Amino acid sequence: MSRQRAKLVVGNWKMHGRIDENAALLTEVAAGASALQKDVRVGVCVPCPYLAQSQALLSGSVVKWGVQDVSAHAGGAYTGEVAAEMAVDFGVTYAIVGHSERRAYHRESPELVGAKTQRAIEAGLVPIVCVGETLEERESGATEQVIGTQLDAVLMLLTEEQAAGIVVAYEPVWAIGTGKTAQPEQAQAVHAFLRRKLQEKGATVANALLLYGGSVKPDNARELFAQGDIDGGLIGGASLKSKDFLAICQAAQTALQ
Ligand code: PEP
Repeated sequence: MSRQRAKLVVGNWKMHGRIDENAALLTEVAAGASALQKDVRVGVCVPCPYLAQSQALLSGSVVKWGVQDVSAHAGGAYTGEVAAEMAVDFGVTYAIVGHSERRAYHRESPELVGAKTQRAIEAGLVPIVCVGETLEERESGATEQVIGTQLDAVLMLLTEEQAAGIVVAYEPVWAIGTGKTAQPEQAQAVHAFLRRKLQEKGATVANALLLYGGSVKPDNARELFAQGDIDGGLIGGASLKSKDFLAICQAAQTALQ
């Protein structure tokens, strides 16, 4: 079965943004994205306090909005956590789960990331499941074993139909926020590995969108997005400047032509 020809570019604002500056950024991104072809999808994952603002400014535009994490629980006595259903109340489409910063600073295990993914799907969100290896793991030849374990912990909890709807983001930890990007061929090799793992879950699952993340900038995006198994990007730092983010979206469109 031939794969869908679509690209997806999602911004991860991390813990950045203030209400005034967000207004300009969201408005500019919505305006710029309206000129893109419809097979280039665009999203921004904002801090939860800005979901209402995102909904107000992006509704009716082609840009979807999302959260950067969800609780593994549907609700209850979990102080500080945000349930996937709460995000749905604000029209959210995407939920990043298992970002390396959460795995590292909040000790999120592969099993917890799996449970969060399942919760997001049950609530009707599209999970963007992040996987990636540290520099030490890469240098010791453990990349496939590490990301394979991270992905397996998610896939084992999902039906084939559910798995076909996830997005997977390969984000080598050594490339996030460091200015070091994986070489396009290096990233493609890992994406091809991930695609094979998805294929093992089912033919339809192999069509899931696979994003690359880690210091994607306007000047390296096109080459990365031109790789056969790279369906777009998860963009951190460069998503905070509308000009850069839109240039990356434009690179996704160019890669489709
Ligand atoms: C990220 O945080 O998901 C990310 C890819 O960050 P950056 O683009 O800044 O490396």
